[in-house]
Amino acid sequence: MNSFHLPTHFLKTLAHPERLRLLYALRGGEECVCHLTALLRRRQAYVSQQLGFLRQAGLIADRQAGLRVYYRVTDARIFALLDAANALTGAKNIAAEARTLAACPCPKCAAKQSDRAHGKRKNSRRKQC
Ligand SMILES: [Zn+2]
Repeated sequence: MNSFHLPTHFLKTLAHPERLRLLYALRGGEECVCHLTALLRRRQAYVSQQLGFLRQAGLIADRQAGLRVYYRVTDARIFALLDAANALTGAKNIAAEARTLAACPCPKCAAKQSDRAHGKRKNSRRKQC
């Protein structure tokens, strides 16, 4: 095994669109499996398999909280690499995927939707005055 073996394995792990999408989703902090499943619009078994590849490569770590499992990126330097890959290939709007999902049941998205609904009520009240 020469010194190119490790970086090759590392880059092979990254060479998958759904794994890149998962890493981007974790850019803003940890997310639960249910959020990541809603984001990819795939079965949870598929999403868990892709998360497993990323975890085995040491790119992400998980944390169990009650019934939910949360994933986070272990080293933020990965985002510099992803940004460089986007710059080199001219890929655009790739980070827009990390937005709040309308149909996501996770606590984070539910809280954001509640805030938005509350804001709308405030605004509509203001218009009535
Ligand atoms: Zn969510």
